[in-house]
Amino acid sequence: MVSRRRAFVTASPLARLTVDLAAMGRNFDALQSHAGDAEVAPVLKADAYGIGSQVRTPVTDYLYTHKNVRTIFVATFAEATSLMLTSGRSGQEITVYALNGYAGEPRRAEWEATPVLSSPAQARAWQESGGGPCGIALDIGMNRLGMSIDEALALPASAGLDPHSITLVVMHLSHAGEPAAKENAAQAELFAKWSGALEAAYPQARFSLSNSGGLMMDLPAAQQVVRPGYALYGGAPDGNPDHALESVASFTAPVIMTREVTPGETAGYGGTWTAKRPSRLATIGAGYADGYMRALSNKGVVWLGGAECPVAGIVSMDLVTIDITDAPAPISPGDRAELFGEHIKLDRLAGLADTIGYELLTAVGNRVERVYTM
Ligand SMILES: *Cc1c(COP(=O)(O)O)cnc(C)c1O
Repeated sequence: MVSRRRAFVTASPLARLTVDLAAMGRNFDALQSHAGDAEVAPVLKADAYGIGSQVRTPVTDYLYTHKNVRTIFVATFAEATSLMLTSGRSGQEITVYALNGYAGEPRRAEWEATPVLSSPAQARAWQESGGGPCGIALDIGMNRLGMSIDEALALPASAGLDPHSITLVVMHLSHAGEPAAKENAAQAELFAKWSGALEAAYPQARFSLSNSGGLMMDLPAAQQVVRPGYALYGGAPDGNPDHALESVASFTAPVIMTREVTPGETAGYGGTWTAKRPSRLATIGAGYADGYMRALSNKGVVWLGGAECPVAGIVSMDLVTIDITDAPAPISPGDRAELFGEHIKLDRLAGLADTIGYELLTAVGNRVERVYTM
């Protein structure tokens, strides 16, 4: 009885994302070496890019405990509050900046998020809700978030902000994923110029330019805070898998069954894959609802049986069928296929899906169990 139960427990039927926190820690150190004296403030938006930080706190805990992280970035004010509440770290312990700014969300005393205000209107809303420590964002060419230098200098007059309440000035590169783009140097120059103009007006402010891409191209910028996300989680900001730091997240799913098919038989919805020879198929327990994108139909590859095996047919919501005819090792139900990770690099798989690894990682679904190792 006992051994049966154990077999049941170890052979999990679930798709799984295994997160190697120690590898993330080594990536943190590598990014710190690019950052020099600047504080590395990780970006944990979208549940740490899908690897889990809020409902599941191990990522935040690891960074706080092992890497002394005290400044964190997320996107929304609600994410910031939720990260603080679920990790049990109050505003006395960590500062969580919300990059999307402030739109009148409720404020919660000791679990207080710190908005990065993007416009005079946001600054007025913040001031009307009581004001206090905040960041501001300046636009240096992306036309997404951020205000102009004139608007930034006018905030005490236009929004009633106390100049000493501004603790951070954020600017963001529009071409950080393209190291060769001329925009990078031009925007770094703008960063230097505007930092100089704001330093005297906002004496408490620290300045921040680089995300992962900016850091890894070693842009010369005098900044006190850097904001890497993707590289920390093992992705290559320029999409070239050879440029990634250590792989952190491994996405696996179990083989549910295998079958033999004869030449001419098809697989999956619409029969888009046809056997050209006697073939062996494995059905894997993950589909587009788990983040294995439908765009990988007849294009993706998985690591199974000691080899790369191609996706055969259309990816379903909960399943994907793989051609394992050429796999050297025998494959049976319960074996786990790697969808991305050590062998199938995240950025390479993203290329096959015609997207970027950021999207694949953040798409990993809620149904996928997260397992953390150190
Ligand atoms: C998401 C984001 C980052 C992190 O970018 P990565 O490429 O993942 O390092 C940094 N700054 C801003 C403003 C962002 O929106």
